[in-house]
Amino acid sequence: MSGLTKKTVYADKVLSTILGVSEGELVSYAQISQGLHKYIKERDLRKTPSEYTPGTQEAVSMLKSAVSPNMKRCRDCDAEIPLEAVFCDLCGVSQ
Ligand SMILES: [Zn+2]
Repeated sequence: MSGLTKKTVYADKVLSTILGVSEGELVSYAQISQGLHKYIKERDLRKTPSEYTPGTQEAVSMLKSAVSPNMKRCRDCDAEIPLEAVFCDLCGVSQ
């Protein structure tokens, strides 16, 4: 199982609405990412930011803060490592 599919976040009210899960359910970052993209695509939110459904911007910023912009997660141990890293600082697995 890759790090991204580990269920690591409890969905709050906003996340549960967007992902279609129950509030308090454990979700993975991959689920959040996919769910958010789907949510935005379905509602065509990219075209008109002013029509953002309440909570969406909050969810987007939550997702961004989950993994820093210049960081990625190790495919093996899920550690945050620099985007350009070739090997994980923690476990040494090549990315
Ligand atoms: Zn690692």
